[in-house]
Amino acid sequence: MSEELNPFKIAQQQLDEAAKLLKLDPATHALLREPMREFHVSFPVRMDDGTVKVFKGFRVQYNDARGPTKGGIRFHPEETIDTVRALAAWMTWKTAVVDIPLGGGKGGVICNPKEMSPRELERVSRGYIRALGHYIGPETDVPAPDVYTNPQIMAWMMDEYSIITGHNVPGVITGKPIPLGGSAGRGDATARGGMYCIREAAKVLGIDLSQATVAIQGYGNAGQFAHKLVTEIFGAKVVAVSDSKGGIYAPQGLDFEAVSAHKRATGSVQGFPGAENITNEQLLELDVVLLIPAALENQIGAWNAANIKAKIVAELANGPTTPDADEILYKNGVFVIPDFLCNAGGVTVSYFEQVQNAYDYYWTAEEVYDRLDKKMTAAFHAVHAMAQKYKVHNRTAAYLVAVSRVAEACKLRGWV
Ligand code: GLU
Repeated sequence: MSEELNPFKIAQQQLDEAAKLLKLDPATHALLREPMREFHVSFPVRMDDGTVKVFKGFRVQYNDARGPTKGGIRFHPEETIDTVRALAAWMTWKTAVVDIPLGGGKGGVICNPKEMSPRELERVSRGYIRALGHYIGPETDVPAPDVYTNPQIMAWMMDEYSIITGHNVPGVITGKPIPLGGSAGRGDATARGGMYCIREAAKVLGIDLSQATVAIQGYGNAGQFAHKLVTEIFGAKVVAVSDSKGGIYAPQGLDFEAVSAHKRATGSVQGFPGAENITNEQLLELDVVLLIPAALENQIGAWNAANIKAKIVAELANGPTTPDADEILYKNGVFVIPDFLCNAGGVTVSYFEQVQNAYDYYWTAEEVYDRLDKKMTAAFHAVHAMAQKYKVHNRTAAYLVAVSRVAEACKLRGWV
């Protein structure tokens, strides 16, 4: 990984910019530049063929000034500690920008779930919790799903933690299946939270979303639900989607049910009848109104930012845009809804899930949507107002809002 594309270096660079504008004191700046705690574990897992494989995992508890650290666990073959550190930093800014009483953390296991059987996946999930169980908990650090992890994995992890502690502890993890204490509305929360931001951005820009064309990169939890919701809520037309194997383009529009059925049947969106196969790179540069990066980091950089034609870039992925690209997009008048604002719906409903677990009483989907809408709309406008005030792009503005809240909590605790 080149230094400029090291996600943690990028996260630090973004923070430095905000620290300068906020005239943050050096001690607070130094504290917020590094994770407060991190764990590196190796744990053995019995594979289906009887051999034992040793997996490496990480958990980074970046900052807990505002509350217990919170953030997902990724299962990815290319996971690195620096990626997890960056994601943990972004979680710290994410929980602060939506103003929920949590800090930021992230976890990861270097593994390829696509090459594991369900039983092996279960043993890796339980093994990770056995290795880290003493360092997480409802009042310390609360994991959740992320790239290539899902509610079933959360259920195994919650069960393993409950076995270790000797009683049922649903609040140790969020994104659980509903029968085990999951929240209504958590499944599509990341995409739905993004929709509320897109709605507000369109109002600010005077864009009619019912006439808008949309391209979505990535077809995991966030990307698929974005396809569904952008059609359902706004009546917008999705003309391109993609996954790790490549994309498809159809100017007449792509039906959500048909494309997901095709992906379930064939393992990819590519080869969808009536659509043209395109690359992920081509998808980003399509002439659409709304571009939704919903895959991995570093997709829009200095190499392609000038070719982005979308009016709004709504980042459901974490870290899809590099700092160089941010400058180019800002100069070209592209309205970016930055990742830790745009995709904060996931952790916001995770927080609602924790609240429901704590008082053991559950809300309807409508109650969840309504509370999520209020949180996302308030966060969007706090960031938008900051961008106007300091004449900076939305990412720096989001940093200004989030960093000042975390810095204030550090000060009030007497840390700095
Ligand atoms: N993994 C999601 C994120 O990046 C959700 C985290 C959570 O719910 O704690 O925001």
